Amino acid sequence: MATVHSDSHLGLSEEQQDFARAVRDFCARECGPERLKELTDGFEDLHHAATARRMAELGWYGVAIDEAYGGSGGGLLEACLFLEETARGEAPIGAYAVTLIVVGALTRFGTEEQKRRLLGHVAEGGALAIAMSEPEAGSDVGALQTRAELRDGEWVLDGTKTWCSYAHKAQEILIVCRTDRGESKHEGLSMILVPREAEGLTVTPIDTLGGKETNELHLAGCRVGADALLGEEGHGWTQLMAGLNYERVILAASALGLAQRAFDEALAYSKERRQFGRSIGSFQATQHKFADLATDLVQARLLVRAVATMTDADPERMLPQEASMAKLACTELAKRCALEGMQIMGGYGYATEYPMERYLRSAVVTTIFGGTSEIQRNIIAKTLGL
Ligand SMILES: Cc1cc2nc3c(=O)[nH]c(=O)nc-3n(C[C@H](O)[C@H](O)[C@H](O)COP(=O)(O)OP(=O)(O)OC[C@H]3O[C@@H](n4cnc5c(N)ncnc54)[C@H](O)[C@@H]3O)c2cc1C
Repeated sequence: MATVHSDSHLGLSEEQQDFARAVRDFCARECGPERLKELTDGFEDLHHAATARRMAELGWYGVAIDEAYGGSGGGLLEACLFLEETARGEAPIGAYAVTLIVVGALTRFGTEEQKRRLLGHVAEGGALAIAMSEPEAGSDVGALQTRAELRDGEWVLDGTKTWCSYAHKAQEILIVCRTDRGESKHEGLSMILVPREAEGLTVTPIDTLGGKETNELHLAGCRVGADALLGEEGHGWTQLMAGLNYERVILAASALGLAQRAFDEALAYSKERRQFGRSIGSFQATQHKFADLATDLVQARLLVRAVATMTDADPERMLPQEASMAKLACTELAKRCALEGMQIMGGYGYATEYPMERYLRSAVVTTIFGGTSEIQRNIIAKTLGL
């Protein structure tokens, strides 16, 4: 069998396997290369709202949302299966991962009204975004300077955010900002939900290797109601920390799907392409590359599923070591699969006519966003007492 590792259940229930299979079939049917090119404006705009809505109608978009808010009531493990399969199947729902990160924060800290409004919006196929990073606060996100003040019963926000993914598609953006000075940089932070159309908020796209994906935000006297606060005033840092398992596993599962896609593409190519009168896959040098990558893919998949399962069993439990390991392993693997895939495909891997160069462009950023690989290693080292 060609890709035993990706099709095997690895501890999933029958129902979970059926779910993953259904998503995979949908992607194979609806997101083939020609169709995908059409849906994404030539691979530039990787979020297609109508595809998101179709997946919502199937009950998939709200997979990790409580049934009370229009979702299907699944957990992080089901969300990971969906993320992995949609990334592997190239479904044009680029805004989904970041939307899911905000879903996690809303589920944990949202008021009933916020949950009804925004979780309901996501379950119908809508998008949300989160803005932590600033020009001077990247890895050191606690150094952020965007301010919010309560004036006449409204929050007034001022500052600049950068790298806010899919803000241009989002109904609301979760802004992490400073509402108080605080003794340390981690005190005095809060989370405030700002509608994308709010007056005083400007969203400007940033050109990247990946197309239309991320934005700079400028907040100039941007006013929202007092009820736009998510969770408690001044508790922003603790709330961010509480979401880290969730965030890292989400990014890991997406990267894993991309890694598998690059692997699948290279494997299929290596069986077709002939040189010296035989397939290039018959050379041991090529076979060993695939054997190593296939082994790493299974390890990474097991790790993602283990961390997702542990998080579902006890959502309050912090798993800094395991979640960082999952993010580190999957994102570095996505990069390796795409780079090796390009080498295996030779000149054709480098040509834009084939998808491998696109996979490589998508993969390189995964080890940067959501905490770089260096930061993940720092966290893992800290858990080892270093
Ligand atoms: C495409 C894209 C989408 C993004 N989406 C979002 C989003 O939706 N919301 C959001 O808030 N942010 C988002 N980000 C921001 C992302 O999380 C940051 O880019 C990332 O955390 C790194 O910050 P930086 O780019 O400022 O790099 P820096 O922090 O300046 O780091 C530069 C280099 O120094 C290294 N470094 C820094 N500190 C240390 C240290 N202590 N030890 C060892 N090495 C260190 C880093 O690993 C890196 O190699 C996105 C970024 C990109 C590129």
